[in-house]
Amino acid sequence: MDPESPTTKPIRTAVLLAIGSELTVGETRDTNSGDLAGSLSETGVEVAWISALPDRIETVAAALEGALAVADVVITTGGLGPTPDDLTREAIAAICNERPTVDPELERWLRHLFERRGIAFAETNLKQAWLIPSSTAVPNVRGTAPGWWVDRPDGRVIVALPGPPSEMRPMWQSWVLPRLRERGLGRERVTRTYRLTGIGESNVAALLGETLLRAQNPVVATYARADAVDVRVSAVAGDGRTAAELADEASAAVLAAVGDHVWGHGDDTWPGALGSGLAGRGWDVALVEAGTGGATARLLADATWLKSTRTIAPESAGSTDTAADLARDEMQQTGASIGLAVRAVEAGEDTRVEVAAAGPWGVSESSSTAFLGGSEGRRRAGITAAAFLHEILRKMPIQ
Ligand code: ATP
Ligand code: MG
Repeated sequence: MDPESPTTKPIRTAVLLAIGSELTVGETRDTNSGDLAGSLSETGVEVAWISALPDRIETVAAALEGALAVADVVITTGGLGPTPDDLTREAIAAICNERPTVDPELERWLRHLFERRGIAFAETNLKQAWLIPSSTAVPNVRGTAPGWWVDRPDGRVIVALPGPPSEMRPMWQSWVLPRLRERGLGRERVTRTYRLTGIGESNVAALLGETLLRAQNPVVATYARADAVDVRVSAVAGDGRTAAELADEASAAVLAAVGDHVWGHGDDTWPGALGSGLAGRGWDVALVEAGTGGATARLLADATWLKSTRTIAPESAGSTDTAADLARDEMQQTGASIGLAVRAVEAGEDTRVEVAAAGPWGVSESSSTAFLGGSEGRRRAGITAAAFLHEILRKMPIQ
């Protein structure tokens, strides 16, 4: 039997189509595709592309055909409602060359739903009970629009889900994803993310070099996030080597180039990364900041080891009180194990940042310039403070 025949065709690539003119006029943001893309990528399915389309049957039909030319599964969201502008079903029926008919069982379910709610049943709603011969209804327990699972003769699949995220998500999680899994979903993919600080994305790219950044497998990519520059290594098995072997090799190259800047892995956050250095020692932290607009406290929000936070006016930081003085006072006044002080002052177009930490080891301090002024500079000052404390903890031997 052909290994790629209908029932056994593994799902390796996907295209996502978000349907609805409210998306293309910018009234609604397409969050559905991002959610689906995250879920698919996790399982090793490659998303070839994502498009947002208006409620135009020709456009939707053409996009479906284009998508089916490359993808094992095409997933649409939106356009399953009862109104004439909702025409995802029509577009799918057109490209499959099949005629929709009202499914008696779906019709009973739909009429019952309206009765339960005490709402008159408008005949336009019957559209939501449509099926075509190659479609199976995807139950929707949160709304009136069932989805469609459509099997194409060549083993590809179209899945149509409703637009409201609260309906789409449970249908995807509990019905569609398990069925796609049965087909064999994606390939084993190993990903590693390194979270960096104290270096800009372009410098990271320069240190990693073109060879690493242009390779197809593993893919090594950089992402400038709010709290870090991330380097992500993502490998699938190939050339007789496992995904893990390939990821290990690329990871070693990444660490050799930028390892000094790594403060976390995967979805580590600053509160978490600092917490692991503090927890072992049973330490807590009292924070005082000036001129940062509370940026450090926001970055570290909800950290269990944060005993107190305090923002003082930049003026009262005075020219005589250094960050080291502030840190020492904060530690003594609060009884916290560590006093952490941050002072930010705009200097030209950038921000001058002084940080200090007082703790059982004594007092450490550092000053640097954060790129840009204003809120961006203040945000970076917060990261500078977190990175500073992280570095102290990293270098300090655990007693
Ligand atoms: P319904 O039967 O509820 O009308 P539907 O499948 O017809 O479902 P749409 O009419 O396309 O869905 O969209 C309904 C609502 O769902 C939109 O007004 C919007 O709030 C939300 N929505 C639609 N598409 C998306 C999307 N891609 N991302 C996020 N929200 C969306
Ligand atoms: Mg609708």
